[in-house]
Amino acid sequence: MSLRWVVRGLRTPIQCVVQATVSSTSRGYSAIAAARSVLESELETIRSGGTWKGERIITSKQGSHISVDGSSGDILNFCANNYLGLSSHPEVVQAGIRALQTHGAGLSSVRFICGTQDLHKDLERKLAQFHEREDCILYASCFDANAGLFEVLLGPDDAVLSDELNHASIIDGIRLCRARRFRYRHMDLGDLEAKLQESQSSRLRLVVTDGVFSMDGDVAPLQGICKLAEQYGAMVFIDECHATGFLGPRGRGTDELLGVMDKVHIVNSTLGKALGGAAGGYTVGPRPLIELLRQRSRPYLFSNSLPPPVVGCAARALELLMASNEIAQSMSAKTMRFRSSMAQAGFTISGSSHPISPVMLGDARLASLMADDMLKLGVYVIGFSYPVVPKGKARIRVQISAAHTNQDIDRCVEAFIQTGRKHGVVS
Ligand SMILES: *Cc1c(COP(=O)(O)O)cnc(C)c1O
Repeated sequence: MSLRWVVRGLRTPIQCVVQATVSSTSRGYSAIAAARSVLESELETIRSGGTWKGERIITSKQGSHISVDGSSGDILNFCANNYLGLSSHPEVVQAGIRALQTHGAGLSSVRFICGTQDLHKDLERKLAQFHEREDCILYASCFDANAGLFEVLLGPDDAVLSDELNHASIIDGIRLCRARRFRYRHMDLGDLEAKLQESQSSRLRLVVTDGVFSMDGDVAPLQGICKLAEQYGAMVFIDECHATGFLGPRGRGTDELLGVMDKVHIVNSTLGKALGGAAGGYTVGPRPLIELLRQRSRPYLFSNSLPPPVVGCAARALELLMASNEIAQSMSAKTMRFRSSMAQAGFTISGSSHPISPVMLGDARLASLMADDMLKLGVYVIGFSYPVVPKGKARIRVQISAAHTNQDIDRCVEAFIQTGRKHGVVS
C-alpha cells in the first residue's frame, strides 16, 4: 500500500493527532501523550459502536479443518476465501519450497531496478493466457492493482462509472484518479445508462464493477453492462477476486460464466484467494495499458517485487486449474449441497450458486451470538453487520471450499439447525 494513498485518500486519526499535538505541546503535554488520548478515544468509539473487529488466532495451516487458539480440538473452517482448497495443497506448497530454494526469499528490489525474475515473467504469461488477454502485470496485492490502475488510464477529460457497492480498494483507486466520477446504483442497468448519457462528452469512459460482490455472492449483470458499454462507447473493467479460478466452465471467471470474455477489456484479480491464497494481485488487459502501468503505476514502481515462493505457489495453482476443472466442479457440488440443505431447514441464503453463501439473519446481535454458538459446536463462521453490510441485513457469511468433504458440509448444516433453533430462527 503506498503511503500516498493514506495521505491523499483518507482522513486518518493520525491527521487529527498532528493537529492535537501542535496545540498541546505548547501547553506542556508530551506529543505522544496527546496522540495516545486521541487514539484511545477513537478506539472507544469503535468499541461502543459495536463494530470492533477481533482477530482469532489460528495455530495451523489454512484449510477446511484448523486449530484455533482458545478452542480445543479440530475446528471446521467456513470463512476463508480458500475456494479451491489450494492454499495448503501439497503440490502448491512444494512449488513454493522449490522457488524458495532456486530463487531465494525475495528480491530486495522493485521490478524495474533488479526485481524481475524469470518466475515473474512466467507467471505473467500464464495469467494472461488464463484470462485470454494480451498481457499481465503483477502487483503485491489486488488492493495495489486497484490503487494503481485508474490514475494511469484515466485523466481529467475521462469518466469512470462505478457500482456503488464496489470493493473498498476500487473506491480508493478511483479517488486517486482525476477522471469525472459517476456512481450508479448497485447492479442497476437503468441507472448505469443514465450515467452513460450524462457522461457523453468524455474522452474515455470506463465502467467499473466487481464481477462478484463479496457480501452477497451476487454476480454483476455483465451481459447488460457490456451491451450498454458497447452502445455508448465505454470500456469495461471487472474485479474478479471472488471469481477467478472457479466461475465459468473453465474457471476463468464471471466474464466466462456470462459469455462476455471478449467484451470485458480489463480484469484485476488476486492470487490471495482461490489461486493458492498466498498474496499478490494483477491486471490483465490490452498490451499498451499493461506497458503504461509498468511505466507509471505507483504501487508497482515503488513497492517490492512479489517474493519467489509466492510466485511459485501461484504458478503451480494456476497449472493445476488449467489442467483440469475437477477441483472447481467439486466445490460447486458442495456449494449446492450446502445451499439446498440450508433452504430445506428453513434458512434464507442470499445469492444463487456462488460459494459465498450468506445466511441472512437481519439482526446484528443475533448474527454475532449465533456465530459464537457455532464455534462452540466446532464450526468457525463470522457474523457481518453494519457498516460492512446495510443496517438490518446482518448475516453469517459461509464460504464453501473444494477442501470441505460432504460430511463437513453436513456437520455445518447440523450446527446451523441446532443454533438456529436455540435462537428461534428456524423451527
Ligand atoms: C479481496 C479483494 C481485494 C483485495 O485483494 P488482495 O489481493 O487481498 O489485496 C480486492 N477486490 C476485491 C473485490 C476483493 O474481494
